[in-house]
Amino acid sequence: MAYHRKGSKNQKYSFQEQRIFLALEKEKFANQASAFNTIITAAAKHLLVKRVSIWLFNETKSNIKSQALYDQGDLSNTERVLESKDYPHYFRALNHSGVITADNAQTCSSTNEFTTDYLIPLGITSMMDIPIWIKGEVIGIVCYEHIGQIRQWGAKEANFGFYISDYVAKVLLENTREQAEIRLQVSEESIRFSQQQLENVIQGAQLGYWDWHYQTGEHEVNDRWLEMLGLSRNQVKNHVADWKSLIHPEDQAWLLNIVETHIDSGKAYEAEFRMRHTDGHWVWIQGSGAVVEYNPETKQPMRICGTHQDISARKQAEFELYHYKNTLESLVEERTEALNIALQASEGDSQSKTEFLSSMSHELRTPLNAILGFAQLLQANDEEPLTEEQEEGVEYILSSGTQLLNLINDVLDLSDIEAGNIRVTFEAINIMDLIEQVVNLMNVIAEKEAIQLNILSDMPAVVLGDDRKIKQVIINLLDNAIKYNEVNGTVNITWQYMSHERLRINICDTGVGIKEANHERIFSPFHRLDKEKCTTTGTGVGLTVSKKLMELMGGNIGVESIEHEGSTFWIELPLFKESDKEANTMNQFTILVVEDEEAIRQMLVIVLQQNNFTVLEAGDVAQAQSLLNEHLPDLILLDWMLPKITGDEWTRRLKSDTNYSDVPIILLTAKGEESDKIRGLDLGADDYVTKPFSPKELVSRIKAVLRRSGKIHDLTQIKFQDITLNTEQHSVNIGGEEMEVSPTEFKLLKFFLTHPGKVYTRTQLLDKVWGHSVYIEERTIDVHIRRLRKILAQFQREDWLQTVRGFGYRFSEKKL
Ligand code: ADP
Repeated sequence: MAYHRKGSKNQKYSFQEQRIFLALEKEKFANQASAFNTIITAAAKHLLVKRVSIWLFNETKSNIKSQALYDQGDLSNTERVLESKDYPHYFRALNHSGVITADNAQTCSSTNEFTTDYLIPLGITSMMDIPIWIKGEVIGIVCYEHIGQIRQWGAKEANFGFYISDYVAKVLLENTREQAEIRLQVSEESIRFSQQQLENVIQGAQLGYWDWHYQTGEHEVNDRWLEMLGLSRNQVKNHVADWKSLIHPEDQAWLLNIVETHIDSGKAYEAEFRMRHTDGHWVWIQGSGAVVEYNPETKQPMRICGTHQDISARKQAEFELYHYKNTLESLVEERTEALNIALQASEGDSQSKTEFLSSMSHELRTPLNAILGFAQLLQANDEEPLTEEQEEGVEYILSSGTQLLNLINDVLDLSDIEAGNIRVTFEAINIMDLIEQVVNLMNVIAEKEAIQLNILSDMPAVVLGDDRKIKQVIINLLDNAIKYNEVNGTVNITWQYMSHERLRINICDTGVGIKEANHERIFSPFHRLDKEKCTTTGTGVGLTVSKKLMELMGGNIGVESIEHEGSTFWIELPLFKESDKEANTMNQFTILVVEDEEAIRQMLVIVLQQNNFTVLEAGDVAQAQSLLNEHLPDLILLDWMLPKITGDEWTRRLKSDTNYSDVPIILLTAKGEESDKIRGLDLGADDYVTKPFSPKELVSRIKAVLRRSGKIHDLTQIKFQDITLNTEQHSVNIGGEEMEVSPTEFKLLKFFLTHPGKVYTRTQLLDKVWGHSVYIEERTIDVHIRRLRKILAQFQREDWLQTVRGFGYRFSEKKL
C-alpha cells in the first residue's frame, strides 16, 4: 500500500498529535543532532515503533546515510551508509513512489533485500519510510521499523510521518540558513580583520596609500600620504591632479608614461620619483600601484590603488656612496700617478746609480787590484815578516779590498747586462753534473760555517741554457743560503719538473728568512734589506744579476720564505728538447750582414742573434771585405743598393774568387726590383729576400740556404756510411735494409754514429749513454756491445764496433 503526500497539509491531526507538534515547535534546539533526536524520540513514542531513524541522500543520490537513530529508547547513531548498487529495489522504490509502507518487510519487494542481514537479525517485521522534501525534492527519509507482530500501516501513521518529515526538513533548512549566516558573519569578521591588518601594515610601514577612481579622477589618500609632503587634508582637492601637480618637472613625463602604460597592460608598476614638500624641498618617493577594479562591461579600468614610500634617506645614502666612489676613484688615480712618478724617479735613480758605478768601477778596478796584489805581497814576504799590528792592518786591507772588488765585479756584471753586452749561449746541460760541480766548489765555504750542503734529488734532467751563467746563478744562491744561514744549518738542493717543458731547481736553507713584504724588493739592485748594518758582507746586486741572467736564458727566479724559518730560492729553466739541437747548432754559424742603413742593419743583427747565429756587420763593401780577410762567414746577407760598390757587383766578384765562391749569399732587395733579383741570381746569389721582410721568413731562408749548401744536416737522421739512424722513428737502416734493435742498443749505436772514430772508456760510455744518475755496473756495457755487434753481424758490419784493448771501444769503418 503506498501513500502520497497530496492533501496531507489539510489532514486533521488528533489532539495528541497536535500537542506533540506544538512541543516540537516550542523547543529551542542547541543543534541539528539534538533536534533530530527529539523528533525521532517523539515519533517513536507516538507511533509505538521500536526503531526510528533519519537518513539523507548524498548529492548524486547514489547512497543514503543515517543521521540519527532511535533504537528502543537508545539514541546512538552509527552513521550507516546504504549504497544504491547494493539495494537496487529499495532505492528504485524510494525514487519511484517516495513513500514505502511494507507491512511485511521481509517479503515486500521494496524491502526484502534487507531480510537476511538486517531485518531477521534485528527482528524487524514491518517498515515505513516517509520521504523528506525540500523545495519539491526528496533529500532523505525518516524510517520507522516495527519489531514484533506484523503491523498494518494506515493513513493515520503515514500522515503523522509526513508531518515529522516536514519538521526534519524545517530543521535542516534552519540549520543551513544558520550556517550561511555564521559563514557570512565569519567572512565579514575576517574582512574586518584583514582590513585592520592592512591598515596596520600601511601604518607600520609608514606607507602612504592612495585610491584613484580612474573615470572620475577622484583620488583618496591616507594621512601618511599627506604627511610625507607636509600637507593637511584641507590643502588637497581629493583629485588625481593633487598628485600630478606635485611631481618634479623632470620626472613628470616619464612617470605618467609608465603609469599609463601599466594601466593599459593591467600590470603593477613601481617607480622612484620626486614630489614637492610644502616647505619647498623635494621628497624621494617610491611609488607602486595597480588596477584593482575594471568595469565588467566596458573592461575599462575603474580603480587604481597603490602606495607611496619616502625613500629620501636611502637616496641620500646612495648619492653619498656614489660621490665617495668617484672621489675614491680619482684619489686612487692621483695616488697611482704620484706613485708612477716616484717609481720613474726611483728607476731613474737606480739607472743613474748603475751607470755611475759602472764608469767608476772600471776606473777603480785597476788600482784596487794593485792594492790587493801589494797587500798579498806584504803578507807573503817571509824575509821581512809583518808585526802583529801590521798583519792585522793588511788583513783589513785585504778583506775590505776583496769586498770592494766583489762589488765592482757585480756592478760591472749588472751594467753589462743592462747595456745588452752579455750574450748567453744555449746548450744541453746535465743538471746533476752541474750541481755536483757547484756543490764541490761551495762545500769549502759551507764547511767553514758548519753548514751542510745536501743534494736530495737524483733525477736525470737536461736543461737548455748557458753552463757558465747557470753556475753563476746557483753559486750566488748557495752563497746566500750559506751567508744568511744559522750555525749548523742545512742547505738542501732538489729539482723537479714543472711541466714537460720546464725544470725547477730549489735551494732551500734553514736560515734567517725574509719578510714577505721584501720578497719582490730583493731582486732590485742595492736592496740588502737591513743587512747593511750586520757583519755579513754583500752588495745587494747578486740577486738582480741572477734574475737578469735567468731571464736572458728564458728562465725565471723566485723565492718562498718565512722569517726566522728559512728561505727557498728557486730557478726555472727550459728543458732541453731534441728540436733545440738545431738552435743549439746555429751559434756555430757566422753570418756577415752588409747593409748601409744603420736601423735595418741593427734590426738584422738582433733577429739573427735571437736565433743564435754569430753575426758580423759591415756598412759597406770595403768594411765587409776587411772582415772577410779575418773570418770566413758561413753566409753573407747582402744589401743590393750599397754605396760605391753595389751588391750585385760584389756578388759577381765573390763568386768568381775561389776563396769565397763557396760562401752562400742572400740578397736583400727592395720591392718590385724584379729584374735585379733575376740578375742577382744569375750572378750566383743563392737566394733573395724582399724588403720589408718578416724576420721568420728571413731565418727560414737562411736555414734553407745553409741546408742546401750542406752546412746543416737533417737533425732527425744520423748517417754514417750506409747506416742511417732515424731518431724520430727510432729505426736503423743498413744498406737499404731495416735493422731490428732494442732501445738500449739504439742509444748506444746513436752515440757511436755521432762520435765515429773516437775511443771511449766504459765509464765514459756509461756517462754519455746512460747518464750519471743510473747505476749500472761497467761489465753491463760489454753485454750491450756484444748484442749490438751480433746485430751488426747480420749485415757484415760487426768489425766496425771495435774493442781497443786496455782502453774501451770505438766505432769506425777503418780497421784498427
Ligand atoms: P747580497 O747577498 O750581496 O746582499 P743579493 O742580491 O744576493 O745581495 O741579496 C739581496 C738581499 O736579499 C740580501 O742582502 C739579503 O737581505 C736577502 N737574501 C738573499 N738571499 C737570502 C737568503 N737565502 N736568506 C735570507 N735573506 C736572503
